[in-house]
Formats: sequence, C-alpha cells, structure tokens
Amino acid sequence: MSKRAYNFNAGPAALPLEVLERAQAEFVNYGDTGMSIMEMSHRGAVYEAVHNEAQERLLSLLGNPSGYKVLFIQGGASTQFAMIPMNFLGQGQVANYVMTGSWAEKAIKEARLIGETHVAASSEASKYMALPELQDIKLSDHAAYLHLTSNETIEGTQFKEFPDTGSVPLICDMSSDILSRPFDLSQFAMVYAGAQKNLGPSGVAVVIVREDMITDSPKHLPSMLRYDTYLKNNSLYNTPPSFGIYMINEVLKWIQEKGGLEGVQELNRKKAALIYDAIDSSGGFYRGCVNAEVRSDMNITFRLGTEELEKEFVKASEQEGFVGLKGHRSVGGLRASVYNALPYESAQALVQFMQQFQNSRS
Ligand code: PMP
Repeated sequence: MSKRAYNFNAGPAALPLEVLERAQAEFVNYGDTGMSIMEMSHRGAVYEAVHNEAQERLLSLLGNPSGYKVLFIQGGASTQFAMIPMNFLGQGQVANYVMTGSWAEKAIKEARLIGETHVAASSEASKYMALPELQDIKLSDHAAYLHLTSNETIEGTQFKEFPDTGSVPLICDMSSDILSRPFDLSQFAMVYAGAQKNLGPSGVAVVIVREDMITDSPKHLPSMLRYDTYLKNNSLYNTPPSFGIYMINEVLKWIQEKGGLEGVQELNRKKAALIYDAIDSSGGFYRGCVNAEVRSDMNITFRLGTEELEKEFVKASEQEGFVGLKGHRSVGGLRASVYNALPYESAQALVQFMQQFQNSRS
C-alpha cells in the first residue's frame, strides 16, 4: 500500500508520519552505533541519554513544574489501576473515584480489590452522556486520593476543567488525552497514561508523579508494583521497554515542533469542530452520543438511525480507506478517534465521506 490510511483507531492509534520516518531512518543504525536502539544495553550511555531526554522533554512540555518525576512502567494504564490503590491507599483510608464511564469503572474495580472505595460523584444516571459537575464531587472522610478519568475513550466525554481537592491528592487517568491540550500539572499529585494513543507505541505507561507522594510504599508490595522502585532506579530497575521510550521521545520532539501543547490543541480543536459540525448539520442523520458541553476532542462518538445503517457506514468507509470508525464493542455506534497525530486532511476526508454517505441514503 503506497498511501497511508485515514487512521481513526482508538489505540494503538495513528503516529505522526514524520516520527515513523525518522525512526525508520535510524532503525538499523542508531546514531552511528552500528545497531538499532532495540539492540543495545539499557545500561549504556546511548540508551540512557534517550531515556533521560524523554523524561526531561515531557516535563518541559508541561512547563517544568518543580517536584515532579516521570516514571516508565510496563503493564499499560490497567496496571496503574491496581498500583494506585496498592501504593496510596493506607490503613483506615478510603479511595475516592469519579465514575464517568467504562474506564473509570475499570479503575474502581481494581481499587475495590485492594480496599475501601467511595464513588465521590457519578454520571451513571445519564448513561454517561454527561459528566458530574465539579461542585457535586463529595469526598469521603479519610480520603486517600481522588481519581478521575479526564477523557472517557469509549463514551466520548472529556473534562474541560478539574476539581480543586485541597490537600487530598488528585490522580488522573489521562490515557486518551494526555498532551492534547495544556493543563496545569500542579493541580495533580499524579497523572498517567498508556502510551498508545498520544505518546507512542503500546507497552509502556507514562506516570508523572509528585515526588512527595512516593515516600513509603507498603513494605509487603512486590518490587515491580512499588512506585519507589521506579523512582529510586530512574525506571531502570529492570529492562525498560526501550524502543517504546525512544518512540515517545520522538513523539515529544514532534509535539515541540508543532508549537507545544497550545499548538497541538489548536489543531485538535479544529479537527474535532469539523467533525462535530458535520454531525450537527446533518439534520439528525448523524447524532452525537453525548451532551455537547462534555464532548471529547479526542474520541468523537456518534450514531446513525439504525444499527444496520451503521454497519453499512463502516463497510463503505473501509472501502474508501478509512480505518477504525466502528464504535467500541461494548457500546456500539461509531467513533472517530482524532488524537494529536491524526492529520487534518483525514478529518476533512471523513467529513466529505459522511456527507457522501448521507446523500446516498436520503
Ligand atoms: N484508561 C483509558 C482512558 C483508556 O482509554 C485505556 C485504553 N483504551 C486504558 C485506561 C487502559 O489502557 P491499557 O490498555 O494501556 O491498559
């Protein structure tokens, strides 16, 4: 295939073509070392420079707030669902969660295995078409932390601002919108994300954590499930997913070249607006799944009149070179994931296809 697909995959998702080409150019001989980055020791100076550079670049994109560290941990965001309560939920404390949809639910499920949890707010009654109002978040007594999911990848909702939790640490799963817009890291004790949407290939979760959170992981925890292991060893306690971290560093360079988080946000807003406008101006042929004020700029969920028509839409889209427009199997419908790396031209092509499809059926 000579042409790149219009790739609307939800994750693993499109990566910037420039990054793939750069990686390709140095794939078999990185920096004149005579080997790929994948073939060299993770204890060597060449790899370590990449590792450290990725951490520094990430913090620099976030304005270099003091006191934060970047950790690279395998096991995806799902392992973080477990590590958070394992490390931060102390005796007599309660883990607090905001329940916003499928991923928040998975996070809560893990916390319940570890200790006492409290749902501090929920939008379940709206079938997750809405998000809880920030002022309706009610923390329990002895709250160890409040966890929220900034962007629900499956339902297609996104918080536009975050609660002030005072002295209670705020922890955020940003798997599907990290680095898609500026945010004030100092509001958070920890943010984390599986890499495979906005950061790089799958196989690593990026954790940005306030150093003072990691003072005393419980003694009984195995080494690989303790944040202090990663902190003390600069995420080099064992062999890290070195190729993935190298790719993250390249993606971060690309974000810098695009004008940093403001730059990518502008592009993301344009892409999302184009597609939402197509939905809203279709006279009801396409219908957005969630309330307009909580729509995600990353995962655009919509439906057609019947499931039959949705199937036809997906089939016809695939024939035209579109990939990944089928909604998540748990909710059905359609979903266009428009992460940082999705080119504007792909969003334009989708809108054109949506209009053609509508014309052919009405
Ligand atoms: N949280 C969110 C918001 C996600 O979208 C995903 C993956 N789609 C996860 C967590 C789980 O990530 P992983 O597959 O890396 O465990």
